[in-house]
Amino acid sequence: MPALQIITSSRRNCETAVATTDSMAAASVTSAAMARARPPVLLMPAATSSSISARRAVITTDAPFRASRSAVTRPMPADAPVITTTMQRKYNTPVIDDIALLSDLVAANSINPSLVPGAPGEAACADVARRAMARAGLDVVMQEAAPGRPNVIGVLEGREPGPTMMFCGHLDTVGVEGMTDPFTPRIKDGRLYGRGSEDMKGGVAAMIAAAADLASGWTRGRLIVAGVADEEHMSLGAEALVREWRADWAIVTEPTKLALAIGHKGFAWAEIVTRGRAAHGSRPDEGRDAIARMGRVLVALEARDRELQALPPVPYQGTASVHASIISGGHEISIYPDACVLQIERRTVDGEDAAVVAAEVNQLLDRLRAADTTFEATAEVNAFRPSYRLDASHILPAAMAGALSSAGLSPQPIGMSFWTDAAILAAAGIPSVLFGPGGAGLHSHEEYVNIEDVKTCRHVLAATVRNLLAS
Ligand SMILES: [Zn+2]
Repeated sequence: MPALQIITSSRRNCETAVATTDSMAAASVTSAAMARARPPVLLMPAATSSSISARRAVITTDAPFRASRSAVTRPMPADAPVITTTMQRKYNTPVIDDIALLSDLVAANSINPSLVPGAPGEAACADVARRAMARAGLDVVMQEAAPGRPNVIGVLEGREPGPTMMFCGHLDTVGVEGMTDPFTPRIKDGRLYGRGSEDMKGGVAAMIAAAADLASGWTRGRLIVAGVADEEHMSLGAEALVREWRADWAIVTEPTKLALAIGHKGFAWAEIVTRGRAAHGSRPDEGRDAIARMGRVLVALEARDRELQALPPVPYQGTASVHASIISGGHEISIYPDACVLQIERRTVDGEDAAVVAAEVNQLLDRLRAADTTFEATAEVNAFRPSYRLDASHILPAAMAGALSSAGLSPQPIGMSFWTDAAILAAAGIPSVLFGPGGAGLHSHEEYVNIEDVKTCRHVLAATVRNLLAS
Protein backbone atom coordinates (compact mmCIF):
# COMPACT_ATOMS: atom_id res chain seq x y z
CA MET A 1 0.00 0.00 0.00
CA PRO A 2 1.22 3.50 -0.64
CA ALA A 3 2.14 5.66 2.29
CA LEU A 4 -0.70 7.72 3.64
CA GLN A 5 -0.11 11.23 2.39
CA ILE A 6 -2.54 14.08 2.66
CA ILE A 7 -1.84 17.34 0.92
CA THR A 8 -3.83 20.17 2.41
CA SER A 9 -4.12 23.76 1.34
CA SER A 10 -0.90 25.37 0.24
CA ARG A 11 1.11 28.05 1.88
CA ARG A 12 1.93 31.16 0.03
CA ASN A 13 3.83 34.31 0.60
CA CYS A 14 1.73 36.54 -1.46
CA GLU A 15 -2.00 36.56 -1.21
CA THR A 16 -4.98 38.75 -1.73
CA ALA A 17 -4.78 42.41 -0.91
CA VAL A 18 -7.12 43.40 1.87
CA ALA A 19 -7.48 46.25 4.29
CA THR A 20 -6.25 45.74 7.84
CA THR A 21 -9.56 45.40 9.53
CA ASP A 22 -11.49 42.50 10.85
CA SER A 23 -12.50 41.95 7.28
CA MET A 24 -9.00 40.71 6.59
CA ALA A 25 -9.57 37.74 4.39
CA ALA A 26 -7.81 34.45 4.51
CA ALA A 27 -5.61 33.49 1.60
CA SER A 28 -8.05 32.78 -1.13
CA VAL A 29 -6.00 31.16 -3.78
CA THR A 30 -3.94 28.05 -3.77
CA SER A 31 -1.56 26.58 -6.23
CA ALA A 32 -0.23 23.13 -6.63
CA ALA A 33 3.20 24.58 -7.16
CA MET A 34 3.17 26.22 -3.79
CA ALA A 35 1.84 23.07 -2.20
CA ARG A 36 5.00 21.36 -3.29
CA ALA A 37 7.16 24.01 -1.76
CA ARG A 38 8.57 22.78 1.48
CA PRO A 39 10.13 24.90 4.16
CA PRO A 40 13.88 25.03 3.86
CA VAL A 41 15.87 23.08 6.35
CA LEU A 42 17.68 26.11 7.65
CA LEU A 43 16.27 29.39 8.79
CA MET A 44 18.39 31.56 6.55
CA PRO A 45 20.54 29.56 4.16
CA ALA A 46 23.73 31.58 4.29
CA ALA A 47 25.37 29.47 1.64
CA THR A 48 23.09 30.68 -1.10
CA SER A 49 25.09 33.78 -1.87
CA SER A 50 28.55 34.26 -0.54
CA SER A 51 29.73 37.79 -0.11
CA ILE A 52 32.27 37.15 -2.84
CA SER A 53 29.71 36.06 -5.37
CA ALA A 54 27.36 38.83 -4.31
CA ARG A 55 30.10 41.32 -5.00
CA ARG A 56 30.79 39.88 -8.40
CA ALA A 57 28.67 42.59 -9.87
CA VAL A 58 29.05 43.16 -13.57
CA ILE A 59 28.31 46.50 -15.13
CA THR A 60 26.52 45.97 -18.37
CA THR A 61 28.03 47.42 -21.48
CA ASP A 62 24.98 49.54 -22.12
CA ALA A 63 25.42 51.51 -18.92
CA PRO A 64 25.39 55.02 -20.36
CA PHE A 65 26.99 57.18 -17.70
CA ARG A 66 30.55 56.63 -16.62
CA ALA A 67 30.18 58.55 -13.36
CA SER A 68 27.40 56.37 -12.07
CA ARG A 69 29.09 53.24 -13.31
CA SER A 70 31.79 53.88 -10.74
CA ALA A 71 29.10 54.58 -8.20
CA VAL A 72 27.37 51.27 -8.67
CA THR A 73 30.58 49.28 -8.56
CA ARG A 74 31.12 50.64 -5.07
CA PRO A 75 27.66 50.77 -3.53
CA MET A 76 27.46 53.12 -0.61
CA PRO A 77 27.44 52.19 3.04
CA ALA A 78 24.37 53.41 4.84
CA ASP A 79 25.95 56.59 6.17
CA ALA A 80 27.90 57.61 3.08
CA PRO A 81 26.91 60.67 1.08
CA VAL A 82 25.51 60.23 -2.36
CA ILE A 83 28.28 60.32 -4.92
CA THR A 84 28.27 63.59 -6.76
CA THR A 85 28.92 63.83 -10.43
CA THR A 86 29.18 66.75 -12.78
CA MET A 87 28.10 64.66 -15.72
CA GLN A 88 25.29 66.08 -17.75
CA ARG A 89 22.81 63.79 -19.36
CA LYS A 90 23.47 63.96 -23.04
CA TYR A 91 20.09 63.08 -24.36
CA ASN A 92 16.51 62.87 -23.40
CA THR A 93 15.74 59.33 -22.42
CA PRO A 94 12.90 57.74 -24.36
CA VAL A 95 9.58 57.24 -22.68
CA ILE A 96 9.10 53.60 -21.87
CA ASP A 97 5.96 51.92 -23.20
CA ASP A 98 4.90 50.39 -19.89
CA ILE A 99 2.45 47.88 -21.31
CA ALA A 100 4.83 46.67 -24.01
CA LEU A 101 7.42 46.22 -21.29
CA LEU A 102 4.89 44.39 -19.12
CA SER A 103 4.10 42.06 -22.02
CA ASP A 104 7.78 41.28 -22.49
CA LEU A 105 8.18 40.61 -18.77
CA VAL A 106 5.16 38.27 -18.71
CA ALA A 107 6.45 36.45 -21.81
CA ALA A 108 9.71 35.71 -19.99
CA ASN A 109 9.06 32.58 -17.93
CA SER A 110 10.45 33.28 -14.47
CA ILE A 111 8.94 30.50 -12.38
CA ASN A 112 10.85 30.11 -9.17
CA PRO A 113 12.85 26.84 -9.36
CA SER A 114 12.67 26.45 -5.60
CA LEU A 115 8.90 26.07 -5.99
CA VAL A 116 8.87 24.10 -9.24
CA PRO A 117 11.94 21.91 -9.74
CA GLY A 118 13.53 22.52 -13.13
CA ALA A 119 11.85 25.89 -13.64
CA PRO A 120 14.08 28.50 -15.29
CA GLY A 121 14.19 31.18 -12.60
CA GLU A 122 14.60 34.89 -13.13
CA ALA A 123 17.40 35.15 -15.72
CA ALA A 124 15.31 35.80 -18.84
CA CYS A 125 12.99 38.20 -17.05
CA ALA A 126 15.97 39.99 -15.50
CA ASP A 127 17.39 40.44 -18.98
CA VAL A 128 14.15 42.07 -20.19
CA ALA A 129 14.26 44.39 -17.18
CA ARG A 130 17.97 45.11 -17.71
CA ARG A 131 17.45 46.19 -21.30
CA ALA A 132 14.45 48.35 -20.36
CA MET A 133 16.38 50.02 -17.54
CA ALA A 134 19.25 50.77 -19.90
CA ARG A 135 16.80 52.24 -22.42
CA ALA A 136 15.32 54.30 -19.58
CA GLY A 137 18.73 55.89 -19.00
CA LEU A 138 19.69 53.96 -15.89
CA ASP A 139 23.06 52.42 -15.23
CA VAL A 140 22.46 48.73 -14.75
CA VAL A 141 24.25 46.21 -12.58
CA MET A 142 23.49 42.51 -12.26
CA GLN A 143 23.86 40.89 -8.86
CA GLU A 144 23.96 37.15 -8.36
CA ALA A 145 21.61 36.39 -5.48
CA ALA A 146 22.28 32.67 -5.92
CA PRO A 147 23.69 30.66 -8.84
CA GLY A 148 21.54 31.43 -11.87
CA ARG A 149 19.28 33.68 -9.79
CA PRO A 150 20.07 37.29 -10.72
CA ASN A 151 18.90 40.57 -9.30
CA VAL A 152 18.90 43.44 -11.78
CA ILE A 153 19.57 46.89 -10.36
CA GLY A 154 19.27 50.18 -12.23
CA VAL A 155 20.64 53.43 -10.85
CA LEU A 156 19.95 57.07 -11.59
CA GLU A 157 22.66 59.26 -10.12
CA GLY A 158 22.08 62.98 -9.68
CA ARG A 159 24.71 65.66 -10.09
CA GLU A 160 23.98 66.91 -6.59
CA PRO A 161 23.98 64.89 -3.41
CA GLY A 162 20.61 64.03 -2.00
CA PRO A 163 18.56 61.19 -0.59
CA THR A 164 18.17 57.79 -2.15
CA MET A 165 14.84 56.27 -3.15
CA MET A 166 14.54 52.61 -4.00
CA PHE A 167 11.82 50.96 -6.08
CA CYS A 168 11.79 47.22 -5.53
CA GLY A 169 9.85 44.38 -7.13
CA HIS A 170 10.35 40.67 -7.50
CA LEU A 171 10.88 39.02 -10.87
CA ASP A 172 9.96 35.45 -9.98
CA THR A 173 6.52 33.89 -10.20
CA VAL A 174 4.83 30.79 -8.87
CA GLY A 175 4.08 27.84 -11.16
CA VAL A 176 1.59 27.64 -14.00
CA GLU A 177 -0.17 24.34 -13.42
CA GLY A 178 -3.67 24.46 -14.85
CA MET A 179 -3.02 27.63 -16.87
CA THR A 180 -3.51 27.98 -20.62
CA ASP A 181 -0.72 29.87 -22.40
CA PRO A 182 0.65 31.44 -19.21
CA PHE A 183 3.49 33.19 -21.03
CA THR A 184 1.44 34.60 -23.90
CA PRO A 185 0.31 38.02 -22.70
CA ARG A 186 -3.24 38.79 -23.79
CA ILE A 187 -4.95 42.14 -23.55
CA LYS A 188 -8.70 42.15 -23.18
CA ASP A 189 -11.16 44.60 -21.61
CA GLY A 190 -8.43 46.77 -20.16
CA ARG A 191 -6.63 43.85 -18.57
CA LEU A 192 -3.38 42.13 -19.38
CA TYR A 193 -3.52 38.39 -18.71
CA GLY A 194 -0.64 36.01 -18.04
CA ARG A 195 1.36 34.48 -15.21
CA GLY A 196 2.97 37.16 -13.10
CA SER A 197 0.95 39.99 -14.62
CA GLU A 198 -0.46 41.01 -11.24
CA ASP A 199 2.16 39.39 -9.01
CA MET A 200 4.11 41.37 -9.81
CA LYS A 201 5.36 42.20 -13.28
CA GLY A 202 2.78 44.99 -13.53
CA GLY A 203 4.53 46.67 -10.61
CA VAL A 204 7.96 46.01 -12.10
CA ALA A 205 6.94 47.56 -15.43
CA ALA A 206 5.49 50.57 -13.61
CA MET A 207 8.64 51.18 -11.59
CA ILE A 208 10.96 50.97 -14.59
CA ALA A 209 8.68 53.25 -16.61
CA ALA A 210 8.51 55.71 -13.69
CA ALA A 211 12.30 55.74 -13.54
CA ALA A 212 12.36 56.53 -17.25
CA ASP A 213 9.99 59.44 -16.63
CA LEU A 214 12.30 60.73 -13.91
CA ALA A 215 15.57 60.13 -15.75
CA SER A 216 15.73 63.09 -18.07
CA GLY A 217 15.27 65.62 -15.29
CA TRP A 218 17.28 63.81 -12.65
CA THR A 219 19.62 66.20 -10.90
CA ARG A 220 19.73 65.36 -7.21
CA GLY A 221 20.04 62.22 -5.13
CA ARG A 222 19.88 58.66 -6.26
CA LEU A 223 17.15 56.38 -7.54
CA ILE A 224 17.67 52.63 -7.31
CA VAL A 225 15.32 50.37 -9.27
CA ALA A 226 15.71 46.77 -8.14
CA GLY A 227 14.19 43.70 -9.75
CA VAL A 228 14.91 40.90 -7.29
CA ALA A 229 14.84 37.11 -7.30
CA ASP A 230 13.11 34.52 -5.17
CA GLU A 231 10.48 36.51 -3.28
CA GLU A 232 8.04 33.66 -3.75
CA HIS A 233 10.24 31.33 -1.75
CA MET A 234 12.97 32.61 0.57
CA SER A 235 13.72 36.12 -0.75
CA LEU A 236 17.32 35.40 -1.61
CA GLY A 237 17.17 38.39 -3.97
CA ALA A 238 16.11 40.94 -1.37
CA GLU A 239 18.62 39.52 1.10
CA ALA A 240 21.40 39.97 -1.46
CA LEU A 241 20.13 43.43 -2.40
CA VAL A 242 20.35 44.82 1.13
CA ARG A 243 23.82 43.38 1.61
CA GLU A 244 25.06 45.71 -1.12
CA TRP A 245 22.66 48.62 -1.38
CA ARG A 246 21.19 51.20 0.95
CA ALA A 247 18.40 53.72 0.54
CA ASP A 248 16.56 56.28 2.61
CA TRP A 249 13.17 54.97 1.47
CA ALA A 250 11.75 52.15 -0.59
CA ILE A 251 8.51 51.52 -2.39
CA VAL A 252 7.78 47.86 -3.04
CA THR A 253 5.40 47.63 -5.97
CA GLU A 254 3.53 44.49 -4.93
CA PRO A 255 -0.12 44.43 -6.03
CA THR A 256 -2.00 46.55 -3.50
CA LYS A 257 -4.81 47.55 -5.86
CA LEU A 258 -3.39 51.08 -5.82
CA ALA A 259 -3.72 51.34 -2.06
CA LEU A 260 -0.89 52.61 0.10
CA ALA A 261 0.09 49.83 2.49
CA ILE A 262 2.42 50.34 5.43
CA GLY A 263 2.33 47.00 7.20
CA HIS A 264 1.82 43.29 6.95
CA LYS A 265 2.07 40.11 8.94
CA GLY A 266 5.09 37.85 9.22
CA PHE A 267 5.16 34.07 9.15
CA ALA A 268 6.86 31.03 10.61
CA TRP A 269 7.02 27.50 9.29
CA ALA A 270 7.35 24.63 11.72
CA GLU A 271 7.50 20.86 11.60
CA ILE A 272 5.87 18.63 14.22
CA VAL A 273 6.65 14.92 14.47
CA THR A 274 4.56 12.53 16.55
CA ARG A 275 6.04 9.17 17.48
CA GLY A 276 4.18 5.88 17.66
CA ARG A 277 5.24 2.28 17.76
CA ALA A 278 5.12 0.04 14.72
CA ALA A 279 3.24 -3.22 15.16
CA HIS A 280 1.06 -5.51 13.12
CA GLY A 281 -2.50 -4.27 12.86
CA SER A 282 -3.72 -7.34 14.75
CA ARG A 283 -1.66 -6.38 17.85
CA PRO A 284 -3.17 -3.24 19.36
CA ASP A 285 -1.49 -4.12 22.65
CA GLU A 286 1.89 -3.51 20.99
CA GLY A 287 1.15 -0.75 18.50
CA ARG A 288 0.90 3.00 19.01
CA ASP A 289 -0.72 5.04 16.29
CA ALA A 290 1.41 8.11 15.49
CA ILE A 291 -1.18 9.42 13.01
CA ALA A 292 -3.98 9.31 15.60
CA ARG A 293 -1.65 11.17 17.98
CA MET A 294 -1.13 13.81 15.34
CA GLY A 295 -4.91 14.08 15.22
CA ARG A 296 -4.78 15.44 18.76
CA VAL A 297 -2.21 17.99 17.61
CA LEU A 298 -4.47 19.04 14.74
CA VAL A 299 -7.43 19.52 17.06
CA ALA A 300 -5.30 21.62 19.43
CA LEU A 301 -3.93 23.69 16.53
CA GLU A 302 -7.41 24.41 15.25
CA ALA A 303 -8.43 25.59 18.72
CA ARG A 304 -5.31 27.79 18.91
CA ASP A 305 -6.15 29.26 15.53
CA ARG A 306 -9.60 30.24 16.76
CA GLU A 307 -8.03 31.88 19.83
CA LEU A 308 -5.55 33.83 17.73
CA GLN A 309 -8.17 35.07 15.31
CA ALA A 310 -10.39 36.19 18.18
CA LEU A 311 -7.71 38.57 19.47
CA PRO A 312 -7.97 42.29 18.65
CA PRO A 313 -6.41 43.01 15.21
CA VAL A 314 -3.01 44.68 15.25
CA PRO A 315 -3.12 47.91 13.23
CA TYR A 316 -1.98 47.37 9.64
CA GLN A 317 -1.48 43.65 10.30
CA GLY A 318 -4.70 42.11 11.52
CA THR A 319 -4.74 38.92 13.58
CA ALA A 320 -2.33 36.04 13.77
CA SER A 321 -3.36 32.57 12.59
CA VAL A 322 -2.08 29.03 12.31
CA HIS A 323 -2.95 26.24 9.91
CA ALA A 324 -1.82 22.77 8.88
CA SER A 325 -0.10 22.63 5.49
CA ILE A 326 1.32 19.19 4.71
CA ILE A 327 0.98 15.91 6.58
CA SER A 328 2.48 12.50 6.01
CA GLY A 329 2.82 9.23 7.88
CA GLY A 330 2.39 5.49 7.75
CA HIS A 331 3.86 2.70 5.65
CA GLU A 332 1.41 -0.13 5.23
CA ILE A 333 -2.28 -0.58 5.87
CA SER A 334 -1.77 -3.42 8.31
CA ILE A 335 0.91 -1.70 10.36
CA TYR A 336 0.59 0.83 13.16
CA PRO A 337 2.40 3.98 11.97
CA ASP A 338 5.50 4.77 14.00
CA ALA A 339 5.74 8.42 12.92
CA CYS A 340 3.64 11.22 11.51
CA VAL A 341 5.07 14.50 10.21
CA LEU A 342 3.05 17.70 10.03
CA GLN A 343 4.21 21.00 8.57
CA ILE A 344 2.37 24.04 9.76
CA GLU A 345 2.37 27.72 9.00
CA ARG A 346 1.88 30.38 11.65
CA ARG A 347 1.17 33.91 10.46
CA THR A 348 2.56 36.38 12.99
CA VAL A 349 2.01 39.95 14.12
CA ASP A 350 4.33 42.42 15.84
CA GLY A 351 5.87 41.00 19.00
CA GLU A 352 5.92 37.45 17.70
CA ASP A 353 9.21 35.96 16.62
CA ALA A 354 10.47 32.43 15.98
CA ALA A 355 10.96 31.85 19.71
CA VAL A 356 7.38 32.87 20.47
CA VAL A 357 6.05 30.46 17.85
CA ALA A 358 8.30 27.64 19.09
CA ALA A 359 7.14 28.21 22.68
CA GLU A 360 3.51 28.21 21.60
CA VAL A 361 3.83 24.90 19.77
CA ASN A 362 5.79 23.32 22.61
CA GLN A 363 3.18 24.41 25.15
CA LEU A 364 0.54 22.76 23.03
CA LEU A 365 2.56 19.53 22.94
CA ASP A 366 3.22 19.74 26.69
CA ARG A 367 -0.52 19.76 27.34
CA LEU A 368 -0.95 16.66 25.20
CA ARG A 369 1.94 14.95 27.02
CA ALA A 370 0.35 15.79 30.36
CA ALA A 371 -2.91 14.20 29.24
CA ASP A 372 -1.26 10.99 28.01
CA THR A 373 2.16 9.85 29.14
CA THR A 374 2.53 7.74 25.97
CA PHE A 375 2.23 10.83 23.79
CA GLU A 376 5.60 11.59 22.18
CA ALA A 377 6.22 14.50 19.85
CA THR A 378 8.87 17.04 18.85
CA ALA A 379 8.58 20.38 17.09
CA GLU A 380 10.99 22.67 15.28
CA VAL A 381 10.54 26.10 13.74
CA ASN A 382 12.53 25.98 10.51
CA ALA A 383 11.76 29.31 8.84
CA PHE A 384 10.71 32.71 10.08
CA ARG A 385 10.02 36.08 8.49
CA PRO A 386 9.12 39.06 10.64
CA SER A 387 6.00 41.17 10.42
CA TYR A 388 6.36 44.76 9.28
CA ARG A 389 4.80 48.10 10.16
CA LEU A 390 5.86 51.64 9.32
CA ASP A 391 4.68 54.55 11.44
CA ALA A 392 1.81 56.20 9.57
CA SER A 393 3.35 59.61 10.31
CA HIS A 394 6.63 58.75 8.58
CA ILE A 395 7.65 61.09 5.76
CA LEU A 396 7.34 58.38 3.10
CA PRO A 397 3.59 57.67 3.38
CA ALA A 398 3.08 61.40 3.95
CA ALA A 399 4.86 62.18 0.69
CA MET A 400 2.89 59.51 -1.14
CA ALA A 401 -0.37 60.90 0.14
CA GLY A 402 -0.08 63.97 -2.05
CA ALA A 403 0.66 61.93 -5.15
CA LEU A 404 -2.19 59.56 -4.38
CA SER A 405 -4.69 62.36 -3.84
CA SER A 406 -3.68 64.02 -7.08
CA ALA A 407 -4.34 60.73 -8.85
CA GLY A 408 -7.78 60.48 -7.25
CA LEU A 409 -6.71 57.68 -4.91
CA SER A 410 -7.14 57.33 -1.17
CA PRO A 411 -4.12 58.47 0.83
CA GLN A 412 -5.33 56.46 3.82
CA PRO A 413 -2.76 53.75 4.54
CA ILE A 414 -3.82 50.13 4.96
CA GLY A 415 -2.13 46.86 5.77
CA MET A 416 -1.75 43.76 3.64
CA SER A 417 -2.43 40.19 4.69
CA PHE A 418 0.56 38.81 2.82
CA TRP A 419 4.24 38.96 3.61
CA THR A 420 6.59 40.88 1.31
CA ASP A 421 10.23 41.83 0.83
CA ALA A 422 9.41 45.17 2.52
CA ALA A 423 10.11 43.40 5.82
CA ILE A 424 13.63 42.57 4.65
CA LEU A 425 14.28 46.10 3.41
CA ALA A 426 12.97 47.52 6.67
CA ALA A 427 15.10 45.15 8.75
CA ALA A 428 18.08 46.50 6.81
CA GLY A 429 17.15 50.05 7.82
CA ILE A 430 15.16 51.09 4.76
CA PRO A 431 11.69 52.40 5.66
CA SER A 432 9.33 50.92 3.09
CA VAL A 433 5.78 51.08 1.85
CA LEU A 434 3.86 48.92 -0.58
CA PHE A 435 2.08 50.34 -3.58
CA GLY A 436 1.22 48.59 -6.81
CA PRO A 437 -1.43 47.97 -9.44
CA GLY A 438 -4.44 45.75 -8.94
CA GLY A 439 -5.84 42.81 -10.83
CA ALA A 440 -6.90 39.34 -9.87
CA GLY A 441 -5.92 35.70 -9.88
CA LEU A 442 -2.43 35.90 -8.50
CA HIS A 443 -1.11 32.36 -7.93
CA SER A 444 -4.24 30.93 -9.59
CA HIS A 445 -5.29 29.71 -13.01
CA GLU A 446 -6.21 33.03 -14.58
CA GLU A 447 -4.15 36.03 -13.58
CA TYR A 448 -4.45 39.56 -14.87
CA VAL A 449 -3.47 43.11 -14.02
CA ASN A 450 -5.51 46.21 -14.79
CA ILE A 451 -3.70 48.18 -17.46
CA GLU A 452 -4.86 51.56 -16.18
CA ASP A 453 -3.60 50.62 -12.74
CA VAL A 454 -0.11 50.04 -14.12
CA LYS A 455 -0.14 53.49 -15.68
CA THR A 456 -1.50 55.09 -12.50
CA CYS A 457 1.11 53.31 -10.42
CA ARG A 458 3.82 54.66 -12.71
CA HIS A 459 2.46 58.17 -12.31
CA VAL A 460 2.23 57.98 -8.51
CA LEU A 461 5.73 56.52 -8.18
CA ALA A 462 7.26 59.33 -10.19
CA ALA A 463 5.22 62.01 -8.42
CA THR A 464 6.19 60.64 -5.02
CA VAL A 465 9.88 60.80 -5.83
CA ARG A 466 9.51 64.35 -7.11
CA ASN A 467 7.70 65.29 -3.87
CA LEU A 468 10.35 63.73 -1.67
CA LEU A 469 13.32 65.15 -3.49
CA ALA A 470 11.76 68.60 -3.60
CA SER A 471 11.25 68.58 0.17
ZN1 LIG B 1 4.42 39.15 -5.06
